[in-house]
Amino acid sequence: MSDCIFCKIAAGDIPATLAYQDDQCVAFHDIQPKAPVHLLVIPRRHIASLLEVEAADAPLLGHLLAVAARLAREHGLTAGYKTQINTGHAGGQEVFHLHIHVLGQPQ
Ligand code: 5GP
Ligand code: ZN
Repeated sequence: MSDCIFCKIAAGDIPATLAYQDDQCVAFHDIQPKAPVHLLVIPRRHIASLLEVEAADAPLLGHLLAVAARLAREHGLTAGYKTQINTGHAGGQEVFHLHIHVLGQPQ
């Protein structure tokens, strides 16, 4: 989507501090971190939110979670961490490109 900020980050058109990328997803540091480690994991494909997810997206969603877990380990969140997916206006979502927040304190 041409007017989506996270699509632009995934395409490299606007800068972000990347933590990981592959053919399906990109992870980067939140611009306004709410924890010492605050990462966002997004699909490269524009999916606005969980409200738009279909059954066929299950492998992609699983991959996003596996990447989130790997990045949490790599960033020292060995005692645990929070993951959060805000969904829709009523769910507090502000950027309408699906993303998993990973928040924690390195040990
Ligand atoms: P939401 O409420 O939609 O789940 O959270 C969106 C998150 O994206 C917020 O934590 C916000 O700080 C982050 N964010 C918004 N714009 C940008 C940006 O341009 N770059 C980065 N790295 N994070 C952003
Ligand atoms: Zn997008």
